Amino acid sequence: MKLKNYALGEWFTSSNTGKVVNHAITGLPIAEVESNGLDFSEMLHYSRTQGNRALQALTFHQRAKLLKSLGVYLLEQKELFYTCSIGTGTTRKDAWIDIEGGIGTLFSYASQALNSLTDGHILLDGKQEALSKQGSFVGQHIYSSITGVAVHINAYNFPVWGMLEKLAPSIIAGVPVIVKPATQTAFLTELVAQHIVASGILPKGAFQLICGSLGNMLEHTTYQDVVSFTGSAQTGQMLKANHNIVSESTRFMMEADSLNCAILGEDVAADSADFNLYIREICNEMTTKAGQKCTAIRRAIVPQDKLEAVIDAIKLRLGKVVIGHPENPSVTMGALAGLEQRADVLANIERLSESAEVVYGTTDLDSFNVLDGDANRGAFLAPVLMVNQDSGSDLSKQTAHDIEAFGPVCTLFSYSNTEHALALAARGKGSLAGSIVTSNYDLAQQLCLGAAAHHGRLLLLNESCSSESTGHGMVLPQLIHGGPGRAGGSEELGGLRAVKHYMQRTALQGNPEMLAAILTNTK
Ligand code: NAP
Repeated sequence: MKLKNYALGEWFTSSNTGKVVNHAITGLPIAEVESNGLDFSEMLHYSRTQGNRALQALTFHQRAKLLKSLGVYLLEQKELFYTCSIGTGTTRKDAWIDIEGGIGTLFSYASQALNSLTDGHILLDGKQEALSKQGSFVGQHIYSSITGVAVHINAYNFPVWGMLEKLAPSIIAGVPVIVKPATQTAFLTELVAQHIVASGILPKGAFQLICGSLGNMLEHTTYQDVVSFTGSAQTGQMLKANHNIVSESTRFMMEADSLNCAILGEDVAADSADFNLYIREICNEMTTKAGQKCTAIRRAIVPQDKLEAVIDAIKLRLGKVVIGHPENPSVTMGALAGLEQRADVLANIERLSESAEVVYGTTDLDSFNVLDGDANRGAFLAPVLMVNQDSGSDLSKQTAHDIEAFGPVCTLFSYSNTEHALALAARGKGSLAGSIVTSNYDLAQQLCLGAAAHHGRLLLLNESCSSESTGHGMVLPQLIHGGPGRAGGSEELGGLRAVKHYMQRTALQGNPEMLAAILTNTK
């Protein structure tokens, strides 16, 4: 099946031969992906002239109601999406994060906008600033919507959520989107896109879709556009350096890979409730979506005297994982998104092996059980736990601080004291999410303040919040998703802050009555 592109208000199928994508479980061809024949510059123009104008004629509340209606519409089709999602390798539980998590983001942004924004077009930023003695000259910061388009380049691991979590704040800001899903799982994104278009809810020009190459689109963006990239640091850095992006100062947001860590506090006794929580988080992060989460724990940092106990407990828990076809109800872990992705993970395990030893799991495809599936056809992989041998200051002996095996893989490091634990955490050079498991408030403070500068989000976990905790890897629309350094240096979500990524902040100066009249007229 050749995937369609949605451009200039019409569905378009390229006549060129495209890249064939295979089903993650069966290995059989599932889609052909090609965008050749699209006029990428014309697509930008169409979004700017049709979509931008149509959306910005609406108020924040009217845009919020569109998102809400779209969420309701998509939710009614969800079973189609779940069925299609099997081709990406996911169990139903994992697909829930992608499909209903994505749709939930539409609802979240709709209600945040309805509850917290005025029913107008401009956002006030802070209070009026007094700039004169007599009070005839004041200042006020405002946000107004940019006049361009949001180009969303997404990763393969969340084909639905990845599209919707970026679409929601863009639409609230009144900025149309052009979505470019990753080729490997574009068939699921395209299915959801078909329903977005069929719903007729978004105005003409507010939504376009490119399945395949982005062509020369980045050569035509301007300072009024936003490019929001999610994917590997390597691709992101290459695109960010595009000469047109640089010379136009096109806004470029980057959510890249991240060597997230979880620190076990020195106070936590083996076999205590907090210890078991730590083990649960590590194993969940290794197996949910077969470890293909940008927030997944890649580095587990544990006190030296607990290392053996942690290894034993993780082994015990991973031993209960059932790998196989997601349609079999006993299966708890599906496959990776495709064979190319698995080959990447296997190559990275090999590289990690230069400084770490595999203590659980195998890379031999014939030596683990696959229920109702075949590891030589589907992209199945057993969870692999590694232990870094040398946690000292020689970084050449710690490849797990640099290499992201984007699959069910985690590396253990042992530490001698709190300072050492923090130094190990910081060697990830900037992460999306980190976890600290402790019930000692002083220790929590030291670890938290030492790790915060290196993380976009920190989970402080112990028994007191565990029953309601959303877990280490779960990204929530209300909280920041992003991180410094290697993680890309940008932020997504975080409530209505994300809407401002698609708006311009301007300082207005003048007479207070004049400013009041302007802001009243724009509500
Ligand atoms: P990737 O290979 O870097 O690709 C990401 C996106 O960039 C895909 O849509 C890809 O399209 C596109 N792309 C590649 N080359 C391009 C070019 N020259 N011009 C325009 N677009 C181009 O990453 P991936 O393999 O899809 O995803 C896995 C990575 O994403 C992991 O490293 C993971 O950590 C990271 N990730 C990060 C986050 C986050 O929020 N920080 C979330 C999810 C995943 P094609 O597929 O068509 O090549």
